[in-house]
Amino acid sequence: MSYQRLPYTKWGWAELRAELAATLCGRIRRSPAARQLADGLAKLLNVPHVLAVNSGRTALRVGLEALMQLRPGRNEVIVPAFICPAVIEVVSSLGLLPLAAAVGPDLNFDPGACVQRIGSRTLAIIVADMYGCPAQIEAFEIIASTARVFLVDDAVQVVGESADGLMLGTFGDFGVLSFAQSKCVVTGESGGGGALICHQNDILSIVRERVEALAPAGGQLRALTAFVWNYLLESHTASLSYRWQRLRQHFPGGRPPALEPGRISNLDAQLALAQLNSLSQRREQRLRILGQDAHALASAGASGHMPQFSRGRYLARVMVSMPPGVDLESCRRQLRQGSVCTRQGYPTPLGGPRSAKGMRELAASLIELPAYAEMTAGDVAAVCQRLHRVAAASRKPVPNRQDGDDHEQCYQ
Ligand SMILES: *Cc1c(COP(=O)(O)O)cnc(C)c1O
Repeated sequence: MSYQRLPYTKWGWAELRAELAATLCGRIRRSPAARQLADGLAKLLNVPHVLAVNSGRTALRVGLEALMQLRPGRNEVIVPAFICPAVIEVVSSLGLLPLAAAVGPDLNFDPGACVQRIGSRTLAIIVADMYGCPAQIEAFEIIASTARVFLVDDAVQVVGESADGLMLGTFGDFGVLSFAQSKCVVTGESGGGGALICHQNDILSIVRERVEALAPAGGQLRALTAFVWNYLLESHTASLSYRWQRLRQHFPGGRPPALEPGRISNLDAQLALAQLNSLSQRREQRLRILGQDAHALASAGASGHMPQFSRGRYLARVMVSMPPGVDLESCRRQLRQGSVCTRQGYPTPLGGPRSAKGMRELAASLIELPAYAEMTAGDVAAVCQRLHRVAAASRKPVPNRQDGDDHEQCYQ
C-alpha cells in the first residue's frame, strides 16, 4: 500500500503563489492581506467584526484578558476534560484556574456536567467543537446567561460550519479560530494565524485596543518551512525528520522559541485567504472520505466506530474509538510499519475523580486515521481492514469491571 498520511491540508498553486509573492516583495510582515482576511472571515461568518491574530492561543488570551478586566473577582474557567492542551495552557498562564467537566460520547462538552461546576468564582465556560463536530452551543448559551457567566465559542478546529443556522465561532461572548497545522484552514505550524470574533460592545472595545497594540508577527518563515517539510512533504521526509529530531535532543537550544502574541503576518494572511478559497472543495473531499470510512469500518466488523460520525456532517479528523482491551500502541506501531500514519487522541491533562471520570479511557480509546485529499475508496477500505486485523490480534480479554480502577488497568 502507498504511504497513507493524516489529513494535513492540501496546498496548491494559490498557496505557493501567495507565499512567493509575499516573500519576494518583502511583504512578509505588514500589509493589506490581514485586513482582507478579517473582512473575508467576517463575510463568511456573517458577523461585523473579526480580528486576525497570529494564533488561536493569542485570540483566546486576548479575549480572556478582557473578561478578567470586566469581572475581576472571578478566577475559574470551566473547560471540557477532553480538549487541546493549548487551551489549558492559556487559561493557566493567565493565573486562572481551569476546572474540567466530562464530555459526552460525541467527545463534546456535556452541558449537564458543566452546570455542576459553576460557582460564585466562575468567570467563563469554554466550549469547543471537537474535531469539527458542533457542540451543543445553544444549551451552553442558556446555561451561561442563566448563571451570568461568560461563554467562549472555541471553533478553532472548524471554519465555515454552522449550527442551527449560525456559524460556529460566532456564539457566546467571543469566539476563536486557528490556522495551525492540524486545523481546517492551514497556513503553517502553530503560530501561523488565528482570529478573534466578538460582537459584544464592552468586550470588543477592549480586545480591539489590545490587538491593535500588538505587532504583526514576523511571518514565521521558520515555521512555514517546518510545516512544508514535516507535513506537506511528510511522505518523503518522515524518516529523515525523525532522525533529525532525535539528534536535536542532544543539543542545547534545540527548542523553538515560545510564541509571542501578535497580529497575523501578511504572509500568513495571504495563505489563509488562499485556503479559504478552497474550503468548500476540501470539505466535499472530506465528506466523501468520512462516508467511506464509516462504510469500511462497518463492513470490517465491529473493531471500532466513529463516535462523531453523522452522514453529511463535516469532521476535521477521522477519529475512531476502539473497544476496551485493544492495545493501541501496538496497533499504531504495526500500522506505521505498513506505511499507515495514525495519531492518538489528546491526553487529558486534568485529572481528579470528580471532573474526569471515564475521560482517560475515552482518550485512550481514540485513534486518528489517514484522510488526505487524493485518498481513494480502495485506500480507505485497506486502512480499515488493516486496523481491524491489528486490533483483533492485539486485543486482550477485559477483566470484569467492578470499579473505575479495574477498567483503567486495561490501558496500562
Ligand atoms: C489548536 C487549538 C487551539 C490553539 O490554537 P493555536 O493556533 O495552535 O494556538 C485552541 N483550542 C483548540 C480546541 C485547539 O484545537
